[in-house]
Amino acid sequence: MDEDDNRCPNCGAPIELSPDTVVLVCGYCGASVSYVGGTFTPLIVECEDKGVIRSALERFVGEKARSGVLKDVKYLVVPFWIVELEAVTKYNGYAEETGYKGKSLYREYRPLRGTIRERVAVAVYGRRFEGIFGLSQVKSILLSRFEAAQPFNPEMVKGWSVIGSELDEVEAIEAAKSRVADEHRRRVEEMATKVFDCYTDAEARAARLILHPVVEARYESGGKSYRVCMDGARGTARPLVAELPITVRGRAARAAAAVASVLAISLAAVVLQQIAFVEDLPVEVWLAVTAGPPLLATAAGAFGAYTATQEHRVLKSAGEADVRVLGGL
Ligand SMILES: [Zn+2]
Repeated sequence: MDEDDNRCPNCGAPIELSPDTVVLVCGYCGASVSYVGGTFTPLIVECEDKGVIRSALERFVGEKARSGVLKDVKYLVVPFWIVELEAVTKYNGYAEETGYKGKSLYREYRPLRGTIRERVAVAVYGRRFEGIFGLSQVKSILLSRFEAAQPFNPEMVKGWSVIGSELDEVEAIEAAKSRVADEHRRRVEEMATKVFDCYTDAEARAARLILHPVVEARYESGGKSYRVCMDGARGTARPLVAELPITVRGRAARAAAAVASVLAISLAAVVLQQIAFVEDLPVEVWLAVTAGPPLLATAAGAFGAYTATQEHRVLKSAGEADVRVLGGL
């Protein structure tokens, strides 16, 4: 694809495209064009008003980080394939059981074989290399609400950056099939001590390209930078995952732990000294042993408090599932 192709073939509007984009979605005219042939209508989860999101973000930063300042706010409409599959997994193995019969311990090997038959939906991100902060949480909420997605209309994404998909339908289906096979194997391994074989046959029933609004933001507090991923869907403006500064209390706890560990060492030194009968030590050595640890403890406490500021906590308000069971077969 050369430079001139970075325009919508339908309306000519300039479009930001990665070199690997195979399904272009034009935020100006709403056209969606697949470079591998075929046209279809992408769906979209309705975007929240940008002002509402901005104030929710500012409120969040104000609550979580005093003197925090909101920096970059990116309003993105990101591509997912939601692939619905019928998956049948046959498995065969055994489970080991131990227990007591009266007073004697027994161990039993119970054959474990069966079939999982399910309708599932799998969320596949439409980009190959570039992730977004909070991607697993976004997949999880999209799986809970994809039925409510509507036909794409450019009016809905004014001021948002619409990102095209680098995966076409066929690739998305392949990715979803292997994902559901992995998921079923994981469940079988949970039940079994040993799995002899586990084979999944999955058939795609539908594959839809669904655009989901996500807000990636960054804020600064105490000279450090923290990331926030907001749910951009209408009526739900809340952070899905966010990095938070360590609290004063958390910092104090780390400092206290560091002090306590050094004091414990100093106590051990004193005890050892008594055991070893070393009262005849020169006074400098005696001073070093008794005065050294408290000084060290103070230094360690300060160091602990300092290193604590280097890190952050992470708040998660959504799960991380990318497979949802829709029902039995
Ligand atoms: Zn266009």
